[in-house]
Amino acid sequence: LRRSGPSPLGDSMNVSFEFFPPRSGDMESQLWESIMRLAPFGPDFVSVTYGAGGSTRQPTLATIKRILEETELSPAAHLTCVNASREQVDAVAREFWQAGVRHFVALRGDAPEGIGTAYNAHPDGYRNAAELVAGLKAFADFEITVSAYPEKHPESPDFMTDIDMLKRKVDNGATRAITQFFFDNDTYERYVERVRRAGIYIPIVPGILPVHNFQQVAKFAGLCGASIPDWLATRFEGLDKDPQTRALVAAAVAADQVMDLVERGVQDFHFYTMNRAQLVYAICHLLGLRAPKAGGTVTSIAAA
Ligand code: FAD
Repeated sequence: LRRSGPSPLGDSMNVSFEFFPPRSGDMESQLWESIMRLAPFGPDFVSVTYGAGGSTRQPTLATIKRILEETELSPAAHLTCVNASREQVDAVAREFWQAGVRHFVALRGDAPEGIGTAYNAHPDGYRNAAELVAGLKAFADFEITVSAYPEKHPESPDFMTDIDMLKRKVDNGATRAITQFFFDNDTYERYVERVRRAGIYIPIVPGILPVHNFQQVAKFAGLCGASIPDWLATRFEGLDKDPQTRALVAAAVAADQVMDLVERGVQDFHFYTMNRAQLVYAICHLLGLRAPKAGGTVTSIAAA
């Protein structure tokens, strides 16, 4: 590990954590154990994903409601436009608003047939995330976070088209972007430079994915246009049946990436937790965060 020297650590670091809604009782326990473990770091917000094609509308909402009722955390609900008319998406936004949601991660989403298949917008629907941001802002003054793609979205013909979409999302009211995961920090840095040159000044928060399972991550990366550097594949080589060593290597890889970003001046991090706390907890500790921290204390988590 590099020693971070004079880099800003601890109180100047801002983190957020992403969770997915549980599909079973066991998964619910794992989710809540993870939320409980990470909450004392006082994240800016915790976000809950929205399943492909709106398949998790109720579980997403139920998770958000529980976060609001049982913790002092600030939740953000992911929302997509897949397979839904504007009216239907607006109705979901209204339901979430009534539940107390004031922050959306607004996304277009992927075709129901799966990532990589052609996306056809609903004939009466929002065609992309920029239109969704405008629709949400017209409904209420939500805080809006959107996606950004350091290696460009696979459907974008070029970086200019891709960054133009980000610009439209910002023009319509988005105030933060979280990136797709990446492993090459130079790629992220070059992307932020391009974004700034395009006149976009919102925070471009790196999305950090701890590699719990290299094969799965490599497969997913292939679908969503994130590249896997050779050195990463080499580090996990031969560890498929050795979970303990894999976990240690994953911690070293993630810590190295995050501390290098700190040296490059990054102070905000979003973690794709995959509903597992341990690795993310260790990385937050390395960032100088210490629990408990005012603002993120869990008041009670009944029946976790
Ligand atoms: P947009 O911002 O609308 O577009 C992304 C890019 O694709 C743009 O740069 C644009 O140039 C290009 N593009 C879009 N449409 C076209 C087109 N018709 N032709 C050419 N280029 C086009 N998915 C979920 O289902 N649920 C989630 O909870 C979820 N959370 C996510 C969180 C983050 C931080 C990120 C980065 C992604 C998430 N995703 C989620 C995945 C996301 O839905 C997909 O990446 C999807 O393919 C694009 O959605 P978007 O909002 O980025 O699209």
